[in-house]
Amino acid sequence: MIKVTDLCKTYGTNVALDNVSFEVEQGHIYGLLGPNGAGKSTTMNIITGYIAPTSGEVSINGHILGKETKQAKKCIGYLPELPPVYPDMYVKEYLNFCAGIKKIPKEKKTEEVLSAINRTGLAEVQDRLIRNLSKGYKQRVGIAQAILGGPDVIILDEPTVGLDPQQIIEIRELIRSLKEKHTVILSSHILSEIAAVCDDVLIIAHGKVVAFDTTDHLISDSEHNKRSFEITVKGDKNTVEKVLSGIADTVVNLTFVSEKDGKSSFTFETERTDDIREDVSFALSDNRLLVLSLNENKHSLEDIYLSIMKDSDEKYLEELRRMEEEKDEDSDDLEDSDDDNDSGDDDESEEESEDAEKDSEDAEDDSENQTEDKKEEE
Ligand code: ADP
Ligand code: MG
Repeated sequence: MIKVTDLCKTYGTNVALDNVSFEVEQGHIYGLLGPNGAGKSTTMNIITGYIAPTSGEVSINGHILGKETKQAKKCIGYLPELPPVYPDMYVKEYLNFCAGIKKIPKEKKTEEVLSAINRTGLAEVQDRLIRNLSKGYKQRVGIAQAILGGPDVIILDEPTVGLDPQQIIEIRELIRSLKEKHTVILSSHILSEIAAVCDDVLIIAHGKVVAFDTTDHLISDSEHNKRSFEITVKGDKNTVEKVLSGIADTVVNLTFVSEKDGKSSFTFETERTDDIREDVSFALSDNRLLVLSLNENKHSLEDIYLSIMKDSDEKYLEELRRMEEEKDEDSDDLEDSDDDNDSGDDDESEEESEDAEKDSEDAEDDSENQTEDKKEEE
């Protein structure tokens, strides 16, 4: 449905996206997860045709952006980081205005606007000025605008930033309900949000995709973590320990937890990815030991995220170090006077790209402020 191939985006010397590739299938909710500055908004702005990539290709329902841009854009509804709502318009008036921009045929307009209003729970406030709505309702208006005309894909950039907890719950529910009719891609730097709403997670860091998997699979993925279990057996510590530690190729890192009322508890890990419960319980029952409980401790998405981010940060730093070293080697080859010029040039180009940053995207500044506000709130 959406195919992103080798997407790169650079701003001056700053690499915002570095060879990003992924595919999105119909009917799922995808989460684009990553810390601030990872490249989430850049990815979304490119997929929605707002900005052009430096290189790479995006195809939406077979339409390639840059070649069949109009058709491609028609398949997508977008709620950018800063909702494009006009405070001085009334809700219904604004949505009618958006329907016009989206070139929804006149005879369908009323029906489409009404449907968007109903699906986003805006019926009660449809005749109110947008400026007088709460942040949660303003966000609903932004989502209504995105779903107008029934595009196949809805893209939402940090849709819950700045909302209070009750509003967050409501917006998440609304997003989940979108799945019935649309494929949804939403971005967030909040892990629990992605875990709560999304079927699939794409983790992005320093402009690179560092993980892409189903939420469930990521949690139970044995590549990042050994699976760990907790077991309680009727029997004394030594007998149980002997049997458990003897289950070859299955039980590793056996750790005693407690012994009480003739019951012993242990934790252990396994590298096996299949169901080990039969092997464990049969081994114990062969020794006339009764298993009272055997539970797998699921690693939280948080653990996995932190471990992936740590890996990716280390790789990133290594790459920076390598680039520094290469630069040093290059400048060693040059004469002393050239060295001075070199560093002067570098400073200048950095300033230039900073200026370009300021000029080209005021919106980006605002969004960063917004994120900082959020941080302060937290
Ligand atoms: P995220 O949405 O994950 O917080 P962004 O996609 O906004 O991250 O930004 C990715 C990187 O690209 C950051 O380092 C950011 O500073 C940079 N960047 C984004 N937009 C611009 C721009 N218009 N000019 C210069 N740099 C930019
Ligand atoms: Mg962003």
